[in-house]
Amino acid sequence: MDSSDIAFDAKHIWHPYTSMSQPIPAYPIKAAQGAELIMADGKKLVDGMSSWWAAIHGYNHPKLNLATANQLEKMSHVMFGGITHPPAVNLCKQLVAITPEPLECVFLADSGSVAVEVALKMALQYWQARGEKRQRILTLRHGYHGDTFGAMAVCDPDNSMHGLYKGYLPPHIFIDAPKCRFNDEWDKSDLLPLEQQLAENNHEIAAIILEPIVQGAGGMRFYHPQYLKGVRDLCNQYNLLLIADEIATGFGRTGKLFACHHADIAPDIMCLGKALTGGYMTLSATITTRHVAETISNGEAGCFMHGPTFMANPLACAVADASITLLLNSPWQQTIANIEQQLISELMPLANYASVQDVRVLGAIGVIEMKQPVDTAALQKVFVANGVWIRPFGKLIYVMPPYIITPEQLSKITQTIKKVLS
Ligand code: PMP
Repeated sequence: MDSSDIAFDAKHIWHPYTSMSQPIPAYPIKAAQGAELIMADGKKLVDGMSSWWAAIHGYNHPKLNLATANQLEKMSHVMFGGITHPPAVNLCKQLVAITPEPLECVFLADSGSVAVEVALKMALQYWQARGEKRQRILTLRHGYHGDTFGAMAVCDPDNSMHGLYKGYLPPHIFIDAPKCRFNDEWDKSDLLPLEQQLAENNHEIAAIILEPIVQGAGGMRFYHPQYLKGVRDLCNQYNLLLIADEIATGFGRTGKLFACHHADIAPDIMCLGKALTGGYMTLSATITTRHVAETISNGEAGCFMHGPTFMANPLACAVADASITLLLNSPWQQTIANIEQQLISELMPLANYASVQDVRVLGAIGVIEMKQPVDTAALQKVFVANGVWIRPFGKLIYVMPPYIITPEQLSKITQTIKKVLS
């Protein structure tokens, strides 16, 4: 890529959440290997982002490359309507085996946001099939579930696009997010807002959707497992569906295979994405119980009303199947515990800086919350100059590296953050 390509990009290509008139710089990356991104000029950046939670095994992994190449030789895609294929069956066997017990009916779709749309549609169709008009979703402030309309409608109403799309978004019910942090002593008053809402409005509510344990893009907040347990109990008490959005937290990121495991609960519907394919391709899965699936299927429509063109894309399924096998055959608990320990010892001391509000670590996630919003473009320039790839947003400088990162590479990231704060 030369400077004219970069100029073309800036003029013609939209990037996530950027302006077309005043785009912030986009750095040219020509390859990626292990835990490093390789820039067009050959400079290497240690990756602190896993390409937004996805590339858990790092980049250009020989086993994932092989799984993709082998599948490519057979077929890259075939429609899923009236057809099935080994990559989908093999992947779904693994998903049914590793997700919490009653989840066993898998819907494969394109992206995390679509997985959330599918989950919300499942909840609506479930109640429709039961002859009850329940169309409201209850969710937590500070939540984030994606950028499509259904997903946007359950994102935090202040910290999202609700203002821009007012009138288009269905008015759902928002309650205060839990205050009790992951390692705090549990305070059951955290559940009061939910208890109150359910006591008043439970007959209108189709489902509760939340990100278990880690609220990601809405603030990188880690809450208490007892809260999640309490939500599950209340869903049982009022007979509501619980949707766990594990799109960011799934596949080990928080130290457990799924964040629901911290509270030892099973949702009625679980959304997976991001690390599902080890970051190779876009794919998501929405998994539900036989009860929900059969109720929907026995309803008026006689089926679940969704079916994307690229449903169960064989290439994506093959690499997802290989990624899960790779994860399960690795000592992932120990690997993530080691990353957690290193993040604790190297990031926690930064809490003493005057500009820092809070530092928190859970599993392979490290978060530095600043007192003031950061200048993303300016900070990124310094990170790149120092050979690391971190993309801060709002008041947050956060890292979630690939699990294969070495202690030296991780130190390079934490030392650069320290240097920036100094
Ligand atoms: N849910 C959560 C918890 C997420 O973090 C994200 C992505 N940041 C999504 C849903 C949406 O996924 P996608 O970007 O693949 O549509």
